[in-house]
Amino acid sequence: MAKPVKQKRTKKPADAARFSELAILLAELGRNFYDRGWALGTSGNFSAVICREPLRLAITWSGVDKGKLTADQIVQIDARGSTIVGSGRPSVEAKVHLAVVRARGAGAVLHTHSVWSTILSEAYAGNNGISLEGYEMLKGLAGVQTHEHREWLPILENSQDWVAQARAVEETLQQHPHAHGFLLRRHGLYTWGQNLEEAKRHVEILEFLLEVLGRTHGAARHSSRAVGS
Ligand SMILES: [Zn+2]
Repeated sequence: MAKPVKQKRTKKPADAARFSELAILLAELGRNFYDRGWALGTSGNFSAVICREPLRLAITWSGVDKGKLTADQIVQIDARGSTIVGSGRPSVEAKVHLAVVRARGAGAVLHTHSVWSTILSEAYAGNNGISLEGYEMLKGLAGVQTHEHREWLPILENSQDWVAQARAVEETLQQHPHAHGFLLRRHGLYTWGQNLEEAKRHVEILEFLLEVLGRTHGAARHSSRAVGS
């Protein structure tokens, strides 16, 4: 019997179209997150999977103003984080995005630097994570059916060694297979989703819950002081 002919892997026009489409969506999302105070200045970075075989990601440039983010400030990278389409340098955190995509099979990875994630990642660093439980908004996380769900948001030490950081992220995701996100200490939030829409929803839910937790504790401190005075 004749052996099946092995198909030569060619660059598919569909992938190029997908990259263009994702670049527009990522730029729009970046400007939106800037407006909401989650990615001020050049902070934050966003990616989405173009194809998995071979792995290709659309990801934001390093050091660009998210308030003015445009589609041509998104590059296409390969599984090692090298640029293969586009002229800019990919985000220095690209290796973390790739680690999340591999560990979770995510279709999009979003990283914000909000005030609340920065404050709480420091306040709860001693616990190595934050427990979010009893909030209706938890039901916005994929697979969560009830407010009684307990979400554990691990906190990792911050680092500028992104290879080591990516390894630490892989280990954390293995230890917490149900986590929908994690925090980098005094740095920000990472979350992901099956696609960009789900990942965006997860940012909204987790940023909401972090703000609620932060404001509640601030309010509690304020009211106990008021009661005690
Ligand atoms: Zn960052």
